[in-house]
Amino acid sequence: MALRTWQSIKSQYCPHAEAEVYLEAEVVYPAEWLPEQPARVLAHRCSRGVLCNQNSSGGCVWSGTNPSYDPFSERA
Ligand code: SF4
Repeated sequence: MALRTWQSIKSQYCPHAEAEVYLEAEVVYPAEWLPEQPARVLAHRCSRGVLCNQNSSGGCVWSGTNPSYDPFSERA
């Protein structure tokens, strides 16, 4: 049976949330009878993205409120 789970892949201090936040990936691991098939990444999210989305101030691309700012980007 395939395994579907969220995993933290990067952590960073976010000045908007004033806390350590995590970039997470939803990963699907293949069933044990398909061992040569690699794991697949389905989606990404910020660990506090849902909370940020409920604030009135603009957050970042991961909260869906400011598409021009990505704090997890190497350039940020
Ligand atoms: S969604 Fe963006 S602004 Fe909000 S906590 Fe995560 S990284 Fe920070």
